[in-house]
Amino acid sequence: MIIYFSFLKFLVTGGLGFIGSNLIRFLLKDKNHEILNLDKITYASNINANKNFSSNKLYKFKKGDISNRDLLISLLDEFQPDYIMNLAAESHVDRSISEPADFINTNILGTFNLLSTAKEYWDNLKGEKKERFRFHHISTDEVYGSIEDEQLFTESSPYNPSSPYAASKASSDHLVRAWHKTYELPILISNCSNNYGPYQHPEKLIPLMILNALNNKDLPIYGNGLQVRDWLYVEDHVRALYQIILNGKVGETYNIGGNNQIKNIEIVKIICDYLDNQFKSEEKISGSHRNLIKHVEDRPGHDFCYGINASKINTALNWAPKITFEIGIKKTIKWYLSNKFLYIS
Ligand code: NAD
Repeated sequence: MIIYFSFLKFLVTGGLGFIGSNLIRFLLKDKNHEILNLDKITYASNINANKNFSSNKLYKFKKGDISNRDLLISLLDEFQPDYIMNLAAESHVDRSISEPADFINTNILGTFNLLSTAKEYWDNLKGEKKERFRFHHISTDEVYGSIEDEQLFTESSPYNPSSPYAASKASSDHLVRAWHKTYELPILISNCSNNYGPYQHPEKLIPLMILNALNNKDLPIYGNGLQVRDWLYVEDHVRALYQIILNGKVGETYNIGGNNQIKNIEIVKIICDYLDNQFKSEEKISGSHRNLIKHVEDRPGHDFCYGINASKINTALNWAPKITFEIGIKKTIKWYLSNKFLYIS
């Protein structure tokens, strides 16, 4: 019997989150793949994020926890994925400082659970299906810690995490690597810089500043605001993830970045200036939105600078960001202006 594979099957975890929902939109719209989204629906999920694809016949959703072993076994058995992309995570550094337990449970124990059930599933696959299978773990540049000078993180930079979030992601990366070295599970890891774009939870810097400014609220900046991050538009990240899962070399890590380092305070000023211009005739606040900026006590263990050397993915997989920060930040602000009803009551 000849079996025709019309679609590739992706089990995406955390697909109601910021990056996961953008990834699923891309896989369904641009690529026509079959998706099973497993998400616990935590506070960070946005159920509106799947409204454009929830009725797509290639899309299935299951509410559940990656720590639930029995659930994973039955989902893998029923869905028979070609690829697992693990984006389920607790992702906010501030919360990891005040309540680290969830980060240990989901990011470390959840990833362990996903790895061990994926290995059992993969062990029982045969032929082409077994050859094709990949487990892609989506991670962060925060695992590398802070850079003091002009250096950039490469894939061989030592891990030096500062926050409980970064330590939990570093730990999960090590587990994923170990499952390859010990059991030969065909894994891929990617470590990406800060993402921005539609559907990011408003606890994160860019949406927080946009929505607070629209609400005429303070714009809280940690310390002097001179911390540097590399920023990447989420659609560029999603394209990179797709290249990696299809064409990445098994066992390898790929750094993904926007080649776009900016100080936090500069980002906030760009947002303020955009909104000033947008609302100049309405005189919503007296003077510039910049007047709302308020420096607050710095975050404990706050890394000063991150920067990514993305030359490996650029050379090996022919990926480069397409959306400049200038364009991406305008698209993002416009998106939050059009969708503020999702966040501001
Ligand atoms: P997010 O917080 O927006 O979304 C995470 C999603 O995972 C949520 O929908 C949540 O309900 C789900 N989830 C949490 N715990 C779960 C569990 N135990 N079982 C099933 N689902 C669970 O996160 P994000 O910003 O989309 O990040 C996705 C991944 O990308 C994370 O692994 C994060 O570390 C990584 N990452 C994010 C960025 C960024 O800038 N946002 C940058 C680099 C890497």
